[in-house]
Amino acid sequence: MFNALVLEQQDGKTLAEVKQLDLVDLPDEEVLVEVSYSSLNYKDGLAVTGTGKIVHSFPMVPGIDLAGTVKESRSDDFKPGDQVIMTGWSVGERYWGGYSQFARLKSEWLVKMPAGMDAQKSMTIGTAGLTAMLCVMALEEGGITPDKGTVVVTGAAGGVGSVAVAILSKLGYTVAAVTGRESTHDYLRSLGATELLSREEMAEKARPLEKQRWAGAIDTVGDAILARVLAETDYRGVVAACGLAGGFKLPTTVMPFILRNVRLQGVDSVMCPVDIRTQAWNRLLTDLPESALGDIGNVVGLSEVPQAAADIIAGKIQGRTLVDPN
Ligand code: NDP
Repeated sequence: MFNALVLEQQDGKTLAEVKQLDLVDLPDEEVLVEVSYSSLNYKDGLAVTGTGKIVHSFPMVPGIDLAGTVKESRSDDFKPGDQVIMTGWSVGERYWGGYSQFARLKSEWLVKMPAGMDAQKSMTIGTAGLTAMLCVMALEEGGITPDKGTVVVTGAAGGVGSVAVAILSKLGYTVAAVTGRESTHDYLRSLGATELLSREEMAEKARPLEKQRWAGAIDTVGDAILARVLAETDYRGVVAACGLAGGFKLPTTVMPFILRNVRLQGVDSVMCPVDIRTQAWNRLLTDLPESALGDIGNVVGLSEVPQAAADIIAGKIQGRTLVDPN
């Protein structure tokens, strides 16, 4: 028997409860993993609180990320004792996920733990950190090098934003951070941000083109802030958009694209191909400073997840939250 957080639905409401399960209760997938850590992402917050339509069927064990040790495997690619990372692939949405001491998973969802990485570190990074790295890679692909100018990060004190600030700063970029919380200013400066902007000023309705300020941008919030970022992006600048913490709309015009050659690059980590995923995990080893990880993560147990989930939706969480199911 082992512990898992189980979501059920009653009268249209999502209920989250720590339950004892048996290994035979787990879905019949190829690889059995003993989970060392999972993590809390905005999407997990939506799932656990029932705020967003994230969960496809109930009962569901949420947790879109996990890292742990292979216990049994019917796949030739993995053997007992292997350390693995799993993020995305709709786990915790369609398939049972990481808020559990054990999980059964498809082998193609698993990435071998890179040498130098461990379960705790990989889950401090998690889907949020992987997404941040993919956003940085998108800026690089668009030719945005540190000498081009400042890169702005929105939702900067959140999971994706905080890792993005730390990586960009380590790579030598000048980083501006947009945050709604003044209380996070010292934290963001410690991660390497040198300019701090308020959410309010960035959410003000922008004209189709504003004064050029940003060589590049990593946007985790969408809506009016993304529209302003686009209007303020330099000629041939690149904006990597990955999130909707502020809303899914994009009230913009074609002007930044057709007059300033601005590129809006979408970033998705869920279905990201394995070769790019592996490349990103390896980059995280070198490009995310070890010192930033300690500041970025805090840890909760399974029974504390529902409160932490409510906090992430309320925008009260700073950095990353690890989930220790043991
Ligand atoms: P967090 O909740 O940790 O961070 C989001 C941050 O956005 C908050 O900390 C806050 O930052 C800011 N924010 C919150 N509400 C608002 C608002 N109403 N208006 C403007 N800013 C707001 O979430 P994650 O970092 O885990 O995820 C960020 C976004 O990225 C989410 O929308 C998530 O769904 C998406 N995402 C997408 C992925 C992909 O593959 N495309 C993968 C991972 C995440 P501050 O306090 O600094 O203002």
